[in-house]
Amino acid sequence: MLICSSLDEVKRRESALKFIASLVKEKGRTSLYDLSGLAGGFPIGKSELALLETYAGPAFFYESLQKEGIKHLGGEKVLAFNRTSAAILATILALVKPGDEVIHYLPELPSHPSIPRSVKLQDASYREFDSINDFELSEKTSLVVITGSTMDHKIIPLTDFEKIIKISHDQQVKVMVDDASGARLRTVVYNQPKALDMDADLVVTSTDKLMDGPRAGLMAGKAQLIDIIQDKAHQFGLEAQPPIIAGMVMALQAFNPERILDSLARRDKLYQVLKKVVKGTEKTPTGVMISPDTLLKEVTDSKDDMRISEREIGTLMSIILLKEHHILTIPAVGMPGVSSTIRLDLASHDAENLDDTQICQAITDSLKRLKKIIHNEELCLSVLYEP
Ligand SMILES: *Cc1c(COP(=O)(O)O)cnc(C)c1O
Repeated sequence: MLICSSLDEVKRRESALKFIASLVKEKGRTSLYDLSGLAGGFPIGKSELALLETYAGPAFFYESLQKEGIKHLGGEKVLAFNRTSAAILATILALVKPGDEVIHYLPELPSHPSIPRSVKLQDASYREFDSINDFELSEKTSLVVITGSTMDHKIIPLTDFEKIIKISHDQQVKVMVDDASGARLRTVVYNQPKALDMDADLVVTSTDKLMDGPRAGLMAGKAQLIDIIQDKAHQFGLEAQPPIIAGMVMALQAFNPERILDSLARRDKLYQVLKKVVKGTEKTPTGVMISPDTLLKEVTDSKDDMRISEREIGTLMSIILLKEHHILTIPAVGMPGVSSTIRLDLASHDAENLDDTQICQAITDSLKRLKKIIHNEELCLSVLYEP
């Protein structure tokens, strides 16, 4: 066994971060290619920095945030949170009473844990559906949550979206849309309307998903509803602070849907070439992915009696990509329990600094290396845990 517990995953993550730190220290930030799609960023300049030190700053950024936030999400008023999870928690605390029920519809399970966890904290009951035919409210339902695009970037069909909003509103139940990545994927790639334009009551998005901003949550809706949630957010310290708001504003101003659209054409090309190297390569909305199952098929043959888990093989591949090709994917650096799929996001900022041949070569070489070390436990352990 190579990875036995979440403690091992903490060790794995620390060793990967250590490697990144020394790489960046020695060779500069441009030597790293972050294709995770979660690079985030903090695009503020000298003039914004100066504003952070004055009392005028918060007022200034607040006004810009309203303007840029409403442009991005629609609605009357926006509110900035530390995380998307924080916005979800504040909303559930504000709109759901103990004993009520929250219903969650998403295009494909599993749900983001922040939704069921927040409901539990409020002592309400929770049901989730990923099939529209099963979706139904009960008398106790006081909030419906729709996930527009899942953590794995599976998108809700427009007809399901419309149906759920209608069913909920017919029974006077409010709808919050978790559009963490969906506020861009749904609208830019799938041409769907903004959640609020489809009559949802609230929407929240993450400013570091398909956008170069800080990891933070931006919520929008009707002013009266936002005010109630804002009150709750302040009570529990969930609201974003001025420096984060400054980063959010700059990221919203700089947001360019063209980069997402450009990644589509490139994705199709890369997919064609990579499929010749790895048969099981799959497309994602803005890139390609290789599942741990595909990795297993690539590096072992049926005669092998391989005792390696999906997590172990995905993590090993991700770390080899990082250490030998300086390509960053999520399994190497994600929190314990993170997905083990190798996802290359071409809408990432750093994708511009690598061409498709380099990516293909890195995948080919890493697979070769993986095949070589896979039967040697000691070597695998040193790849996983030594910086
Ligand atoms: C990323 C994500 C979240 C949580 O975002 P955080 O900033 O990590 O709190 C919630 N829901 C979905 C669907 C997500 O993809």
